[in-house]
Amino acid sequence: MRKQIAIIAHGGAGGIAHPQRRLNGLKKAVQAGYDILRQGGSSLDAAERSVIVLEDTSVFNAGTGSYLNLAGEVEMDASIMTSDLKFGAVGAIRDVKNPVSIARMVMERTDHLLLCGENATRFARLMGAKYHDPRTGEKVLIWRRKKRRRESTHFTKFADFIGHYGTVGAVAIDQNGMISAATSSGGINLKLPGRVGDTPVIGAGTYADRNGGVSATGHGEEIMRQLLAYRVVALMARMRAMKAGRIAIAQATRADCQCGIIGISKNARILCLHNTRSMSWCYIKNGTMRHFSRRD
Ligand code: ASP
Repeated sequence: MRKQIAIIAHGGAGGIAHPQRRLNGLKKAVQAGYDILRQGGSSLDAAERSVIVLEDTSVFNAGTGSYLNLAGEVEMDASIMTSDLKFGAVGAIRDVKNPVSIARMVMERTDHLLLCGENATRFARLMGAKYHDPRTGEKVLIWRRKKRRRESTHFTKFADFIGHYGTVGAVAIDQNGMISAATSSGGINLKLPGRVGDTPVIGAGTYADRNGGVSATGHGEEIMRQLLAYRVVALMARMRAMKAGRIAIAQATRADCQCGIIGISKNARILCLHNTRSMSWCYIKNGTMRHFSRRD
């Protein structure tokens, strides 16, 4: 029997500066993913396609337009997972256009789950990914301004970084009931070179099993401690998606973890919650698109 199809994407749990650009990117991303689902395609293809569109939309902090690290370089994290527990990820990868596609190659073409650093980049080249500089003038300017203010203070907490969570992610369910989740991030602005966040860590930034799939955004160090994506999906086994999300977000809030989550359960129920000031998101279910408004 054909299952209900649905797809949701997010553009990070940070502030929604440039709301129109974000909304346009998210609409395009979910539409591209939904078109694949409608034609009988897999949730894996749909989630990857949506994230590719978002990585190519420079307003977000993923792929082209990623934030720069302390040394002025872009190091990106990405992961993808399906409800049959297949997983692939890259951490601190450089100079590629679409980290989510490299994560999928790790999943499909290696026996490993996660490749990091220069060897992740080398793997991408072996797989045919061309050199691409993901830095944009807009993000270089932000980097210069922030760096000037913080040069001498080696920060240990990211309090100043609220409003800059621009990671992207997508979760989809296809007509066979297969659920896939994908997340891609430039990490945190001015992070130390080599820092890997929650995005490529299984169960932290991304998780999917037969109960549902989740993509998370927010303060990566705390999201890892919470194993946030896994926690929500595990709760989905026992309750509705939104209830599972509320419990996990309440726990995260008590632990001072700034975050946002999107998800889809096996019954195609949609979940979107955050404890930050705002979050940008968009989904299509039953052919109807819904998205954040300025006040979200
Ligand atoms: N979770 C990402 C990280 O810490 C940041 C974000 O969500 O924008 O790497």
